[in-house]
Amino acid sequence: MTSLSEFNKFTNELKTEDKIMPVLFIGHGSPMNGIEDNEFSLRWARMAKEIPTPKAVLVVSAHWLTKGTRITAMEFPTTIHDFMGFPKELYDVQYNAPGSPALAKETVSLIRSTDAVQDHDWGLDHGAWTVVKHMYPEAIIPILQLSIDYTKGPQFHFDLAKEIFGLRKKGVLIIGSGNMVHNLKMVDWNMINQREFGYDWALKMDYQFKKLITLGDPRPLINYESLGNAARLAIPTPEHYLPLLYTLGLRGTNETVTFFNDKAVGGSITMTSVKIG
Ligand code: ZN
Repeated sequence: MTSLSEFNKFTNELKTEDKIMPVLFIGHGSPMNGIEDNEFSLRWARMAKEIPTPKAVLVVSAHWLTKGTRITAMEFPTTIHDFMGFPKELYDVQYNAPGSPALAKETVSLIRSTDAVQDHDWGLDHGAWTVVKHMYPEAIIPILQLSIDYTKGPQFHFDLAKEIFGLRKKGVLIIGSGNMVHNLKMVDWNMINQREFGYDWALKMDYQFKKLITLGDPRPLINYESLGNAARLAIPTPEHYLPLLYTLGLRGTNETVTFFNDKAVGGSITMTSVKIG
């Protein structure tokens, strides 16, 4: 339970600032990125140094799908190892960043389109910790997760993101964590380390996503199901794509967009990541 004084203290600390935090979409890829220092994870670490230090981080992860929208509200979220068949070293990772019941409460109060619920059962899944661990290895900054309501369509997620725009003005870094092209069944495991290799449809969609994001009209990206056959192969299921719609929904007017880590792995997954602002 959060005391009112704690809540007030936190919201005072989270006062509205002139500058707003950038917002990110990060292609998280394999859970192994959590313990590997590779070109992707090193870029995440560098990104954290390029942007202002956030007061808290809120992650919309592809790996937390719920009925209804939930936000982690515990003081100390546990590290969830939500994958199978990986080395012990990966299961041994504990990312002990605190949560923030006060920010969870504030976030819930901002969301109007649905009755968002403060959650005490989840924690940090690998969509969150494998990335944030590289960005903020000291594990001092509070980390929260916002779930994806799997019963809702893409427009709902884009619109919900707009409702929490104000958090960007309070020093909160919001990260959508997924992969814009993500077809696990078609991964060519022999080519997993060939970063330049990608199936034609995967590279085509990755290029098209970047082009559409740059053009700034979100409608074709929200209505991705109308983008044809390549889009169906790139997004066989929506969970890794929907975090991108949260990032795009948080875009302010005239904000610049930059891309990083735009490479394919295994031919059918792209790590392409977006920084807005
Ligand atoms: Zn994933």
